[in-house]
Formats: sequence, structure tokens, C-alpha cells
Amino acid sequence: MEKIKCDFCNSENSTLFAQQKDLLHRQTSKIFNVVKCNNCGLVYTNPRPTIDEITEYYSDEYYAHEQKNGNNILFLFLKKFLINDFTLKIFAHIPILNSKLKLNILPKLRYPIEKKKNMAFLDIGCGNGNNTHIWGAQHTLRSYQKVSTSLYGVEPNLHAYNQLKYLCNAYQDIDQIPKEIKFDVIRLNWSLEHVHSPSKYFQFLYERLRDDGRAIICVPNIDGNIYKEDSSMLELPIHLFHFNFQSINNYCNKFNLCIEDHMTFSYASMYYYASTINSNFDKYRNMSLAGLLEMQTEFDNINDLSGNDIVFKIKKNG
Ligand SMILES: [Zn+2]
Repeated sequence: MEKIKCDFCNSENSTLFAQQKDLLHRQTSKIFNVVKCNNCGLVYTNPRPTIDEITEYYSDEYYAHEQKNGNNILFLFLKKFLINDFTLKIFAHIPILNSKLKLNILPKLRYPIEKKKNMAFLDIGCGNGNNTHIWGAQHTLRSYQKVSTSLYGVEPNLHAYNQLKYLCNAYQDIDQIPKEIKFDVIRLNWSLEHVHSPSKYFQFLYERLRDDGRAIICVPNIDGNIYKEDSSMLELPIHLFHFNFQSINNYCNKFNLCIEDHMTFSYASMYYYASTINSNFDKYRNMSLAGLLEMQTEFDNINDLSGNDIVFKIKKNG
């Protein structure tokens, strides 16, 4: 474990923000502290596992979602083509589908950037290149092979990296990417909260984006309603930073970048999942599938900074 200064402003002056065990992955029974910088407001895990220690806190299952099995493909098909009011009433009576569907209600989102022919595209923290969390199969590195041969991926996990290298130019760290390569699009898809120094990545974005290039950053939003309901719903200790609009905006200003667009969103499924691990969320446990879908529709209509995840489209200044 290491105790750190604020990555953004170097201050050591901070206030305890939350304290929690590893509720989600259950790799340890230790309690971790999350602090808020008194100078700039950045929220971060401190003390935290060092770069060498952090791997022991990732469960073996963490990357399991990378390997699509037949069951998942069938399930994705069901979700995509068969879910409507009528089929929901039927599926809701099949227990195994019912609970699976409750965990897979997705928000309606618009991907922030158009894919362009021959774009130089870099995905940082991309696993094996077959998953985009929320953006769907059409935005994976594998799918982008149809439009471009200039594809790059960074993935520190050796197992995922060994698969990734068959798909694109693969690296385990941004430092290994040849200096002369500049990118049209750089994506950090729920990965910036895992890195040990966000500053290094913002510096990289400034140096390696083409003048008309764009970055996409997706991170959990510490200002989201679920963290207001219970600040211990953080993914510790593997999330080292806990951003909001202001902290990302601060980094952009410091590194000569600017936020061109942003949106927050929430999944109803996250509340159902929370109810299975945290008694403060018990009230969501017995919610019906239809109730959760209704909740999702309400989330999709909210247009403020209260969503539990936040997406940024970022460009260079000037
Ligand atoms: Zn600070």
C-alpha cells in the first residue's frame, strides 16, 4: 500500500469521503479509505495498492465477461430482438431469465463519435478487444476492423493482452506506443478510474491526439445518485479515482484540452445488483422486471449531472 498526494494539485490536505470493504469482488476483507482533496476537490482512494499490488485485487472473474459463451450470445439475442411488453410478461415467469434480465437493462445512449473509414483509433484499457461495456458489438475493436487497419489497444492484463494482439497493434502500457503515431480517436472506456496517475493520461491525450481528433472518456460519476444514496457503493480498491464533471474539467483545463460534450446516465440494473450485495438497497430487491424497466425509462429522460456514469467527448484547445 502507498499513501499518495493529490494527482491533480499535489496537495496532501484531504478529508475522509468514504470507507468501505471490497463489496463487489470480495478479494480481501480490508477496509479502504476514499478521500477528497481539500484544495481541488478530487476524490481518490488513499492509501491505495501500488502498481505491483493492484493485480491481486482483480478477481479471476473480472475478465471472464471477455469470453462470450453460447449462453451469453443467446441471451444477447433475446435481449435485442425479443424484448417487448408481451414477451416480458412471459419471460418474467421464467426465474433464470427473469433475474438475468434484471441485471441487463441498458440505458438508451448515443455513441458520441462517428466511426470513420481508416481512422487511427486507440482504445486504452480495452480488455481483449471484444467488449465495450455499454456501446455494443458495433463499437468493439473487432468490429472496427471492418473500417480501419490503424487500430491500437492498450491492456495491462496479460491474459487479455495475449488475445488482443491478434486483433490490433497491442501494448500493455501507453508508454510503449511509438511516439510518432497520432490518433483520430482515443477512447478510455471505464479505465481512467483504474490508473495510478490520471495526469499521465491527460498529458498523453494532449500529445497524441491529432489537432482535429477526439477523446472519449467514460467513468463512474461520483456525483451520481447511487453514491448519494450510499457513498460506500464504490468499487474498491480497484477504482483508484472517483471523478465527476468538475474533476475531469479541471484536468482538461490543465492539459490544454476541453470538454466538447458530456452526458450522464444510470442503469436500473445497478440498483437491482446493489440490492444483492448491500442491505441499504433492499427496497430494489423485489422490484419486478417491469418496474425496473419503468425506472430505466425515467433514468433515460433525466438530463442533468445526477447519472451514475458520465461520458465525455474531449478535444484539444485552439
Ligand atoms: Zn487536489
